[in-house]
Amino acid sequence: MKIEVVRKVLEKNDQAAQQNRRRLDELGITCFNILGGAGSGKTSLLEALLPRLKNKYCVAVLEGDLATTRDAERIAALDVPVVQILTDGGCHLNATLVQQGLSRLELVGLNLLFVENVGNPICPANFDLGEHRRIVVLSVAEGDDKPSKYPLLFKDADLIVISKCDLLEHTRFNLSAALRDIRCVNSQARVIQTDTKTLRGIDELSQWVSAEPLLGKD
Ligand code: MG
Ligand code: ZN
Repeated sequence: MKIEVVRKVLEKNDQAAQQNRRRLDELGITCFNILGGAGSGKTSLLEALLPRLKNKYCVAVLEGDLATTRDAERIAALDVPVVQILTDGGCHLNATLVQQGLSRLELVGLNLLFVENVGNPICPANFDLGEHRRIVVLSVAEGDDKPSKYPLLFKDADLIVISKCDLLEHTRFNLSAALRDIRCVNSQARVIQTDTKTLRGIDELSQWVSAEPLLGKD
């Protein structure tokens, strides 16, 4: 009977995720769910990326965190609409929380929505939020063993960003080993190497985002 309860939780999430996706589709909004461990550089990546996108598109961000509005403040400083979702200790976002976040945003006219998940390489991967594309961020500071150790995180990614590449020479991160292990769990995802100091890879990232099908509609 306990298994029944667990299944209902997931079904409820999947229903809310479908509702989110349908609503976003109707509004012509492409949604990206950004996942990665704490400190992998998700917010820094958005800080580098958003200035390139916001002249071309109407962009907004949902920030998921356990506590504080620090990440939302960094996004708001770029003059991009942002809502902070606080999970109050919860270790992942779910589709219902995203639904509540959506209700606080002006959605009409929006083209792009980024959802920064709670920094955690484990359970966020199990929750469909209603996104169209999944971006996983892996920093070289975390180690090249992460694709093998957290395969679920990488398995369903559409894009894998290897971040903080400016630190490569200071770490034992083996890039070819990481790329090989990524391919073992995900043969399709695009992989882009970035660093937010020299802005390496940020144009490539911006082009990948801009190539999404919903954006070409109007
Ligand atoms: Mg962050
Ligand atoms: Zn969790």
